[in-house]
Amino acid sequence: MKPPRFAYAAPESLEEALELLKEHGSEAKVLAGGQSLMPMLNLRLLKPAILVDINRLPGRDRIDEAEGMLRVGLLVRHRQAERSPLVRQSLPLLAEAVRQIGHPQIRNRGTLCGSVAHADPAAELPAVLAALGGQVVLRSAGGRRVLPADQFFLGFLTTALEPEEVVEELRLPVAPPRTGAAFLEFSRRAGDFALVGVAAQLAFDAAGRIAAAGLALTGVGGTPFKAASAEALLRGQAPSARLFAEAAERVREEVDPEADIHASAEYRRHLAQVLTRRALEAAWRRAGLEAA
Ligand SMILES: Cc1cc2nc3c(=O)[nH]c(=O)nc-3n(C[C@H](O)[C@H](O)[C@H](O)COP(=O)(O)OP(=O)(O)OC[C@H]3O[C@@H](n4cnc5c(N)ncnc54)[C@H](O)[C@@H]3O)c2cc1C
Repeated sequence: MKPPRFAYAAPESLEEALELLKEHGSEAKVLAGGQSLMPMLNLRLLKPAILVDINRLPGRDRIDEAEGMLRVGLLVRHRQAERSPLVRQSLPLLAEAVRQIGHPQIRNRGTLCGSVAHADPAAELPAVLAALGGQVVLRSAGGRRVLPADQFFLGFLTTALEPEEVVEELRLPVAPPRTGAAFLEFSRRAGDFALVGVAAQLAFDAAGRIAAAGLALTGVGGTPFKAASAEALLRGQAPSARLFAEAAERVREEVDPEADIHASAEYRRHLAQVLTRRALEAAWRRAGLEAA
């Protein structure tokens, strides 16, 4: 099917883009990589009067590190983050998650900010943001606001983003020393959206105990599931296979997925448990402290 008719604007500055969004409000849609928006237009799930194409905005495709945070600009493509030595070094969890998004063709065009704005419940990046306690920077003609992940994701494809705002930047805390991380997921075919995915990061203190744990899941609800009680269970403990199995059991008990055409609720719960245990074990191994 072809998309409905729409007007098209390609502003050359962020200010110009924000003015257009202010003028057209909910009649406008931002076009970033188009990897989710174009299918939705073709299926006539959306009928915006105007598309505001942000691909020409200068200087917005940067990944920087400042004040302990990795900052991802609104035109950074998945592929760029996947190949970035800075991301690999400062935030291996993000590097591993982004590699598992769709296919190379999708990663060449899709943006990290677009993925977060779209808030697909099966997407990898919202879970990474939730696991790490990341922030979403929102910008409108009226100013800027910064929301933590748990206040940004509200439900299925629903966020706190207002029609006149863009996601300007993602901020993710850089992994401290003695950290290991893993993003594990299960999908039926390579490149498909995952049925369930787990983002896990463990930071260890000098004595080898777990100083901080970040754990969140995708595919088990409308928003990323922050496994706060499993994180609390892990914090301060000496790592062991038994501890990780206990944390994974807690995740299994607390997630409340719905059945859909892809998987039953019970199967998703099972995946949540198995992948959590494996992700925590991998994070431990990758920190280089296993059996220390
Ligand atoms: C076959 C296929 C497989 C895929 N597999 C995966 C997968 O496994 N995991 C995954 O996470 N994703 C997957 N995707 C989606 C892909 O990652 C998209 O790139 C991403 O969801 C949206 O990013 P985009 O830049 O393409 O945004 P667009 O498609 O341009 O926009 C998506 C939505 O976000 C809004 N938007 C975009 N950028 C901004 C912004 N900066 N500020 C405000 N609003 C904005 C748009 O208005 C629109 O509503 C897949 C897509 C396809 C087609």
